[in-house]
This record gives sequence, structure tokens and C-alpha cells, in this order.
Amino acid sequence: MAGIYLHIPFCRQKCSYCNFYFSVSLKTKDDFINTFLKEIDLNHNYLQQKDLDSIYFGGGTPSVLSAKEIDLILNKINKYFNLKPDIEITLEANPDDVNKEFLSDLKKSGINRFSMGVQSFHDKELKILNRSHNSAKAIESLNMIKEVGFKNTNIDLIFGIPGSSMDDWKKNLDTFLKMDIPHLSCYNLTIEPGTIIAHQIQTGKINGVDDDLSADMFMYTDELLTKNGFEHYEISNYAKEGKYALHNTNYWTGIPYLGLGPSAHSFDGNTRQWNIANNRKYIASINKNIIPATIETLTPDDKFNEYMMTGLRTMWGVNIKEIEKFGDKYLYHFNKNIIKFTGEELILKNEDNYKLSSRGMLYADRIASELFI
Ligand code: SF4
Repeated sequence: MAGIYLHIPFCRQKCSYCNFYFSVSLKTKDDFINTFLKEIDLNHNYLQQKDLDSIYFGGGTPSVLSAKEIDLILNKINKYFNLKPDIEITLEANPDDVNKEFLSDLKKSGINRFSMGVQSFHDKELKILNRSHNSAKAIESLNMIKEVGFKNTNIDLIFGIPGSSMDDWKKNLDTFLKMDIPHLSCYNLTIEPGTIIAHQIQTGKINGVDDDLSADMFMYTDELLTKNGFEHYEISNYAKEGKYALHNTNYWTGIPYLGLGPSAHSFDGNTRQWNIANNRKYIASINKNIIPATIETLTPDDKFNEYMMTGLRTMWGVNIKEIEKFGDKYLYHFNKNIIKFTGEELILKNEDNYKLSSRGMLYADRIASELFI
């Protein structure tokens, strides 16, 4: 199995919390598409495996592309790879880019999963996040996706937004449940240095984030959604049975993927590499037939640490048989350090498997880093 990630580095406006790589100028979009197609020509041999089970258009905002541009990219991928019959092809979309004609054309091109950046169903929160849509538009677009016949849909929601109450969050989740959508990605707002929202908090324009309230929102979500038939299969992700996001699951379980576009990351099992995060330099380099990537070879310690970090994020956890494969040093280290977390019930043991409890998920990063070698 293998996947392709396509980073589309354009957005219509800058969200206040965002520190991803993108440009708000669409002037270079045509150049970018041509360069992107060329990168596929140059880099398709990165993956040994030619059978693809997932393609993911992320960004940035992939829905700024036209259906024709998306079709061109998929045709180019088709030239070099075998798309498995049950392949998942996801497009991240912003609600204000969606209309029926666009959706129908995408369906014909093979897109079969939508991930909609809703973030909140409250206009006051969308304003704080500086999103370009409002709540009514999000609901209209989600209904349109359903009418056109897409069944595999995700929405993103953000909790812990400054000024947001538990009641606000409960209403967001109620709206989500009423819409009968099979997958939810829900993220705790993190305030990244250098973002607009970080500046607004520093200058007292808006309040900071209440960490205790965010933890309560996380625990409430876990309880409500599991009661409503969702599996909390990764810290930030919930799915109805069988509707796990294949692209993300492959990433967490160490399946190789090729990342294309500025700032995109790739992984082949032994190395990681990432493209330069600059549209202009990316275009110039690819046009000289050079992939502008930095490459890192993973040591056995890196691989073990990554296994801890990604494995523990999921409901499948980490497995002692897998840890044994790393060697005695790693097994000894794991057995010595896991005891305190099982003792505090932050990690639950089930035969050979260890996974985070719901409460343990609140401390996932700290726990994983204490298990690093
Ligand atoms: S749409 Fe996504 S990538 Fe673009 S600015 Fe907003 S959060 Fe960042």
C-alpha cells in the first residue's frame, strides 16, 4: 500500500491561527499547476510500490483549483500509478468554494471523499478565526455535498477558541450530529507563535485560551460521540465504523507516501524528506529538474520514537511484538517506562497491546516523549 499527498499552497485569506505554508496571491496558480505536473514526472519513482490506496489533496485550500485542474493532476498520477478500485481520493474544501457544478465535475474526476474546513457553526467564532465563510454557508455546502451523492465526508471543528463556552461547543457537536456526517476531525486550538491570533492575545485584544475548559471539551466530545456510535480512533479523529480516513491512518501506521508541492513531506520507510516551503523557489527548482527537498535518514532510535508517537495516537496503540522487532534495548526501555503510565491508568494494557485511555489522550505528547529512547 502507498499514498500520495498533494499540497496546494493557496488560500483566499489568512485564518488567524494558521501557520501552514500557502500564498494568498493566486497569480502563480497556472505556473504552479504546470510545475506540479512536472514534479510528478520527476518524482514518481520515489515510491517503490505502484499500487495506491489513497490520494489526498491538502493545503492550503485545494478547492481554489478548478475541477479541470484537479482532473489534470489525477490523470497525471494515473499515468504512473495503479489506482486500486477502492482507493480513497480526498479533497479538502472550504465551504465558500463549493457549488453543485464543481461538485458534480469532481465526482466525475474520481474524488470520493470531502473534508470540509467548517471549524465552527458559530459566526462569532468564525470571525475570531478569520474564516472566509459563515455558518449558514457551511451548512448549505454540506447539504450540497450530500445531494450530489458524496457519502464519505469529514468536517473539521476547532474547540478551545477564545471566548467560547462549553455551551457553544455542545451546540457545535449537536449540529454535527444532526447532519449525519460519518467522520469528525476535531482539534484543540493551539496558539502558534507569529500567528494573528497570538498577536491579538499578546496585545490583550482577545482573551487567551482556557486550558482546563479545553480539556473538559475534549472529554465531553469523547463521551458524546462514542455514545452516538463513533469510534475515537485517533486523538483528534472520530469515525463511524469503516469510515476511518485512510490517508491519515496510513500515515499513523507507517505506510509510505509521496508528498508533492511546496512544503510537502514524503516517507519511504527509511527516510523522510520535505520540499522547500516557498512557491517561487519550488517552481524555479522543478523547472531545472531538481526536487527542492531536504532529506533525513531515520536511525533505529528515530523509527522507535516515531512508532511511539504515532502508534499511541491511535486506538490500535503500540504492540509488544512490534517493539520486540526493534531489539532488546528498546524492549527493556519500554517495559521500564510504561509501568507508571499503566499504574496511573493513562495507558491501558490489553494482552500485547498498549493504548492511551481517554484521560491519557490529554497528555499524549508528554507520555510519548517520556517513552522516547
Ligand atoms: S484555509 Fe487552512 S491553510 Fe488556509 S489560512 Fe486557513 S487554516 Fe491556513
